[in-house]
Amino acid sequence: MRQIVIIGSGPAGYTAAIYAARANLKPLVIASSVEFGGELMKTTEVENFPGFPEGIMGPDLMMKMQEQAERFGAEIVYDDVTRLELEGEVKKIHRGDGTVEEALTVIYATGSEYRKLGLPDETRLSGYGVSWCATCDGAFFRQKKVAVIGGGDSALEEATFLTRFADKVTLVHRRKELRGSKIMQDRAFSNPKIDFRWNSVVEGVRGEGRVEALELRDVETGATDVLTVQGLFVAIGHDPNTQLFVGQLELDENGYIVLHGEGTRTSVEGVFAAGDVVDHVYRQAITAAGTGCMSAIDAERYLEALAHTNA
Ligand code: NAP
Repeated sequence: MRQIVIIGSGPAGYTAAIYAARANLKPLVIASSVEFGGELMKTTEVENFPGFPEGIMGPDLMMKMQEQAERFGAEIVYDDVTRLELEGEVKKIHRGDGTVEEALTVIYATGSEYRKLGLPDETRLSGYGVSWCATCDGAFFRQKKVAVIGGGDSALEEATFLTRFADKVTLVHRRKELRGSKIMQDRAFSNPKIDFRWNSVVEGVRGEGRVEALELRDVETGATDVLTVQGLFVAIGHDPNTQLFVGQLELDENGYIVLHGEGTRTSVEGVFAAGDVVDHVYRQAITAAGTGCMSAIDAERYLEALAHTNA
């Protein structure tokens, strides 16, 4: 029987693992068979994680976090979770290879995924002009032209933020009304650096090694057009990776795990959650790491109380 199993291996999962391992709880991290390391594995340079004044490549940062967790005794397996049984004191975690882990506490840190447009060029040029995070990558587009796709608060926030760096930001939206809040709309409309392309969808991204232009189509007239930009920011929403928990944990209407009380407790005793799987507001590596730390401390305290009760 394990004391603690951590599901997910982004900044939240590995920080939880560092804390749990240092508390001598010998955590098992189920890191995913394909997506281990989380979203930072797909980014290039990270300039805003404290402690790295020269910046650090996303995958290097994740490797360092993993090493740090292993140094204190965390065990890491590259496998997926296929099923969970969370009722009762002992939780059962079914792995892809057929192993069933038993644990007294579980920390979920499975993150969220940026919604994608679904274009082959989007994947091909990811990290080379295509980005899902203006806070992470905006500074690389000083004095450049960029496009932001989407019509919600995320797109408006990204577009407004990008005007700090870019000369021109074109917001491309598939309808002619924005979905975002009035205040964010007003802010974007009054910003002279932001242009709007209504009723438009992206059909292709041009550029061999880097983004050079977008192929746009007007959905009302069918007219096509080429927009010269060096950056494409996709801001069409996020989906938390909570499909496994449906029916087992309380989720909000957007699928994020609902926390109870001040810490990282979920609706099920002994089950904690951290990182983007609970956070649709900040979504930063450092905030995920912070809540990962909290979840390990919460789990440790829960285990202490459990041992006391069962003694
Ligand atoms: P959202 O509100 O769901 O908006 C997504 C936008 O992307 C919509 O305009 C949608 O178009 C568009 N879209 C979706 N799929 C698309 C596709 N395949 N191709 C082109 N366009 C597509 O998502 P969000 O903006 O990430 O916001 C999520 C939640 O977080 C909201 O509740 C929002 O208020 C909140 N949020 C708040 C702040 C803030 O207050 N500072 C910042 C960010 C997010 P349609 O409009 O046509 O559906």
